[in-house]
Amino acid sequence: MTQTVAFIGLGNMGGPMAGNLVKAGFTVAGYDPVPQARTAAAARGITIRDTAVEAVRGADIVVTMLPSGALVRQVWAEIAPDVANGTLVIDCSTIDVDSARAAHALFAGRCDTLDAPVSGGTGGAEAGSLTFMLGGSEHAVHRALPVLRPMAGRIVPCGGPGNGQAAKLCNNMILGISMIAVSEAFVLAEKLGLNHQALFDVASVSSGQCWALTTNCPVPGPVPTSPANRDYRPGFATRLMLKDLTLASQAAKDAGAATPLGAHAAEIYARFDADGGDGQDFSAIVCHLRNS
Ligand code: NAD
Repeated sequence: MTQTVAFIGLGNMGGPMAGNLVKAGFTVAGYDPVPQARTAAAARGITIRDTAVEAVRGADIVVTMLPSGALVRQVWAEIAPDVANGTLVIDCSTIDVDSARAAHALFAGRCDTLDAPVSGGTGGAEAGSLTFMLGGSEHAVHRALPVLRPMAGRIVPCGGPGNGQAAKLCNNMILGISMIAVSEAFVLAEKLGLNHQALFDVASVSSGQCWALTTNCPVPGPVPTSPANRDYRPGFATRLMLKDLTLASQAAKDAGAATPLGAHAAEIYARFDADGGDGQDFSAIVCHLRNS
């Protein structure tokens, strides 16, 4: 029997993710307050409803993809009375761990819930190749696999409620720090008269090897597909990296974990964001460091 998915938040990520569910044979009812998002989603075969509450009525599965923890809590609280008992409720947004756990608690004892943040960006959302990091019960994970697979390249269960968000924040803290490290190395190499390709040829097969270098290389040339070769068009925007580093720093503070490099990386990205880097790929931090 065809399952109905309510998809709430049809932006840059949610729109193509919902579109992949339509392609996989799900009936998808969606809601987004922004007219352009609604029009684009309708063109992908999503039936647009006037409110989130209308979208969830009769749905077997609810998926949210929203900008912040405050909004996820607000929307989950708003739809809760109209979500039938036994529904599977999944949030794919990147949000703080506390908000994720509070959202799970809204449905405790009557629905299966998951925090399921993603990595892979808008390209992965279009291609259906996102990595999902899941926080929730084993039963919820098992139930979610059929609806996640059309959107996913990889699905990684991470433990109980909130652990998907914890995994996402820890991973992106590594990424933010390592992109700054790689960028500093290129800037130092320039001053030392070492060319970009030579540093890349050494570091990409040595102990400096990492994703920030070999996939998202911050200087043009060595990796032709990296955003540096197209004027740093994202990719993964600086604004989103700053969001994730800020969430990681806050989580570290709340949990009493020492993350001095994570905190410093957040400061560096905040300065770049304020200097006009917000819409550029986060690898453009190399230009900011070169000019500092
Ligand atoms: P976006 O701003 O394009 O989309 C968010 C959508 O939510 C918007 O269309 C907005 O109108 C809608 N929205 C706001 N309030 C709403 C409400 N009350 N009800 C329903 N819809 C509402 O953002 P995005 O790039 O799609 O990102 C969504 C989430 O995914 C964020 O948490 C982001 O951090 C995360 N994320 C983004 C990327 C990326 O590359 N864009 C990658 C990984 C994770």
